[in-house]
Amino acid sequence: MTGSGPLEAGNSSNMKVRLACPECDLLHENQKIKTGHSSYCRRCGAILFRGQKDSLDRTLAYACTGLVFFLLANISPILVFKMRGNLSANQLVDGALAFLSSGYWPLGILVLFASVIAPLMVLCFLVSILLPLKYHRLPIFPEWQIRTLLALRPWAMAEIFVIGIMVAFVKLRDFADVGIGGSLVGIICMVSAMVLAFLSLDHRELWKRLEELKK
Ligand SMILES: [Zn+2]
Repeated sequence: MTGSGPLEAGNSSNMKVRLACPECDLLHENQKIKTGHSSYCRRCGAILFRGQKDSLDRTLAYACTGLVFFLLANISPILVFKMRGNLSANQLVDGALAFLSSGYWPLGILVLFASVIAPLMVLCFLVSILLPLKYHRLPIFPEWQIRTLLALRPWAMAEIFVIGIMVAFVKLRDFADVGIGGSLVGIICMVSAMVLAFLSLDHRELWKRLEELKK
């Protein structure tokens, strides 16, 4: 996933939002930019932001889509095994539960948090911020919600989980009949929706909308 980017430099108490370059941290004053154009850091050339049409609505749509796929990822099996006539299926949460039941508490909690809790919280925070804005209402604790979203974002590592599952899939095929379940499709689509949500999010538009509603 992309880094936290210039959103962190926003300050809702100051209409002149300053943006920190995600690569070199150089601060830039907010500028008007046309839809479809990008703004670049004057020191290192990194992209500061893109002028996007309907940014917040599209981010909200991707976040809601991500939540639907999160449900699919958690109610369907990831891998289905058939060995010596026995059929068994594993779900997303089973890996973390296996660590917990074996006494590996820190590892189990970490896996559970990164694969299930953090992605869910990131998607819920996106919706909880953007849904009220869509209906011209302020989120309950906007600054806290945005700060928490940014803090959680690096922990939502379901994509790493997908790589691990694919490795297990290839290895286990030597020992048993292994099939891919709907959960894997759900995880891949959820991760894609999350990436698209953050790529679509125009942080300047977000702070501007918050400021307008506070007046
Ligand atoms: Zn820079």
